[in-house]
Amino acid sequence: MKILLFGSEGQIGWELRRSLSLLGEVVALSRHSGEACGDLGDTTGLVGTIRQARPGLIVNAAAYTAVDRAETDRDQAYAINATAVGALAEEAQRCGAWLIHYSTDYVFDGSGSRPWTEVDPTHPINWYGATKLEGERLLRERCERHVLLRTSWVYAGRGGNFARTMLRLAKERDEMKVVNDQIGAPTGADLIADVTAHVIRAVMARPELAGLYHLSAVGETSWLGYARLVLGWAERAGIVLRTKAEAIQATPSSAFTSAARRPLNSRLDTSRLCSAFALHLPPWQGGVERMLAESLSTHQP
Ligand code: NDP
Repeated sequence: MKILLFGSEGQIGWELRRSLSLLGEVVALSRHSGEACGDLGDTTGLVGTIRQARPGLIVNAAAYTAVDRAETDRDQAYAINATAVGALAEEAQRCGAWLIHYSTDYVFDGSGSRPWTEVDPTHPINWYGATKLEGERLLRERCERHVLLRTSWVYAGRGGNFARTMLRLAKERDEMKVVNDQIGAPTGADLIADVTAHVIRAVMARPELAGLYHLSAVGETSWLGYARLVLGWAERAGIVLRTKAEAIQATPSSAFTSAARRPLNSRLDTSRLCSAFALHLPPWQGGVERMLAESLSTHQP
């Protein structure tokens, strides 16, 4: 089977190169791919790529993910997160390919403290969330053979991430403040990629499983709890820090100004996914510690 992977240089896309390679021939595309167009801003080019490749499966890990910038760069965010997804969906439907796409808990307004289910009403509170929701709508409307995975708080060992930022700040500063009123589950791009491959195998055998699913690691924490886990791990690994894990100060989101509002409740209920695909999702802490051990112990941030 030929697999077209869009966004192959991103956090999830990079891990998908690995996990999808067991399912077929992966054509890894990015914004700057050479021969075939992988730029989601160029819908004509995208259509040309799909028509020429005639894939059995399209996986879209590309997105406009700069949440604050999206507030002012509205047209570009909409073009990538909504218009391009609609075009991918139309072409997937036309050539009979499966389309796998990712969305976010930012389609919800972050109210309450209950994990969001797939049937809860959506109500984005920032432009990024609104564009992702519109992408969902176009995908579901235009392509029957789809899987839409909503996830949250994604991290990966490759490139910059929250853990690295916390470690750098803890080395430089005597004081740190981290928000403690946004709650979610840090979810590894490697976990998402592995689950994606598992889900693809299952839906191809049982097309009635197509649809929308929530995917995140198990458990919940705040950004403060996440930061403390990272610094605690670093202390145990012998990394010298000026701010210790327990000394990080809790602060509300309202103390920080940002262009886009963030939802306070990012919890996702994953029971639909686990039951449909017989999956056991791991606690968030293990994935973060593994990422730290792999990416930071030899390369100090
Ligand atoms: P990344 O930002 O790591 O990767 C997104 C990729 O999309 C980047 O490689 C980026 O390339 C690429 N991209 C941006 N614009 C274009 C374009 N015009 N054409 C082609 N590629 C483009 O994101 P993640 O891997 O974290 O996210 C993957 C999916 O998961 C997205 O759908 C996102 O909305 C969703 N998600 C992410 C969350 C998170 O916390 N990160 C949380 C919930 C959902 P470049 O670097 O060149 O811009």
